Amino acid sequence: MEKKNVWETYDAKHLKKLESLNQEYRNFLDNGKTERECIGTIVNIIEKEGYRELEGIIKSGEELSTGDKVYSVWMNKSIAMFRIGERPMAEGMNILGAHIDSPRLDVKQNPLYEDGGFAYFDTHYYGGVKKYQWVTIPLAIHGVVVKKDGTTIELNIGENEEDPVFFISDLLIHLSQEQLEKKAAKVIEGEALDLIIGNKPLVIDKKAEKGKDKEHNKEKDKENDKENNGEKEQAKDAVKKGILEILKDSYGIEEEDFISAELEIVPAGKAREAGFDRSMILSYGQDDRVCAFTSMRAMLDVKESDRTACCILVDKEEIGSVGATGMRSRFFENAVAEVMELCREYSELNLRRCLAHSCMLSSDVSSAFDPSFAASFDKKNVAYLGGGMVFNKFTGSRGKSGSNDANAEYLAHLRKVMADKKVNFQTAELGKVDLGGGGTIAYILALYGMNVIDSGVAVLNMHAPWEATSKADVYEAYRGYMAFVEEASM
Ligand code: MN
Ligand code: MN
Repeated sequence: MEKKNVWETYDAKHLKKLESLNQEYRNFLDNGKTERECIGTIVNIIEKEGYRELEGIIKSGEELSTGDKVYSVWMNKSIAMFRIGERPMAEGMNILGAHIDSPRLDVKQNPLYEDGGFAYFDTHYYGGVKKYQWVTIPLAIHGVVVKKDGTTIELNIGENEEDPVFFISDLLIHLSQEQLEKKAAKVIEGEALDLIIGNKPLVIDKKAEKGKDKEHNKEKDKENDKENNGEKEQAKDAVKKGILEILKDSYGIEEEDFISAELEIVPAGKAREAGFDRSMILSYGQDDRVCAFTSMRAMLDVKESDRTACCILVDKEEIGSVGATGMRSRFFENAVAEVMELCREYSELNLRRCLAHSCMLSSDVSSAFDPSFAASFDKKNVAYLGGGMVFNKFTGSRGKSGSNDANAEYLAHLRKVMADKKVNFQTAELGKVDLGGGGTIAYILALYGMNVIDSGVAVLNMHAPWEATSKADVYEAYRGYMAFVEEASM
């Protein structure tokens, strides 16, 4: 199949829409650098567009009907959105799915220590990272600290120009002869990914301390002044103590509060346009927020659909879709059951029918062809940046192991849907045979027997602190999701 240059297909009207969508996308990336921040951002946007929280409707017992829009958030990290269609839900939904967690460094539960005059946060990386990419770049801390009494302190430090940033050190080139002989996987070890958070010792002013005790005796004070002559003393672990004092004064955080904290270390800075032609976006966290954003936007912009439309944006994909907020959790199935109940349609059998008859685009990023590493790709079966929305019939590696492998019939249907709406798409694998791989959430939804295919957007330097996408692909994914929600039905 001939590869098309998607940019050539646009007229002025398309280009204008493409730019405004990408501007909104960049704002989305800047406002959502953790899964919790993504959920907050998404809820803000969708409530303005008429989505209402499912839990409130369950309490009131109100009946849902065609056109009603509801959402359910699970533990502040995953969300399911529903737009009720004309046809009964038991005939199936059109489901868009993506994940909102991204590779990063997580702060450990007992993180704070001092060594060699630096205060550090000890970390454990989350998801697949090339560890050597995370040193010597400005990093920000995002997340929550939950106090024993249940109050939550939200942190977001390092994004504003006047904020401090944090960093991980690397050995200077002059002393790196031995380090550079190591394998890339060992150049920076996991335990060496500790964040430098301070270097200034807390200094106890002896004069001030003594002065407090002896305020009554002015003569003695004078003597003390002479004795100490401005003498100051450093406490043990003085840098760490200094950090603790700042944390207490600024945020009310005590050292033991880290036990119940979720702090994520991410690259500091905003999403940027890339290239003289501004054709690309360079940003942290595009895997998989590029698909999450475009899926959500498509969901909001669809005006009519026969079938109930659904969008699920989930946590924990990068570590195997585990946990209560990952795709393997029952929260989604439970939310569907609740929505069917409110549509006066629920029965165990109807729920199963609904899930089995649904169609899904399981969206995630695809590895874009990189000419600098051409040998890792099959040029005929790889996604190109600017090549349009991507469909992966299968992912997996070593004999398609672990892949969802969508049905030919389903692909044929999607070809028709995309052609009818003039959506530019390409088909791809994640890399050469026996080289690629990568799990997605597709196989989990396929367990219900529904039609699922991996799809999404091509990304260059996937999982690096800064990932690149094409604005045209962002736009085509959005258009593809719209077409799917409006037209898909199998
Ligand atoms: Mn992903
Ligand atoms: Mn990933």
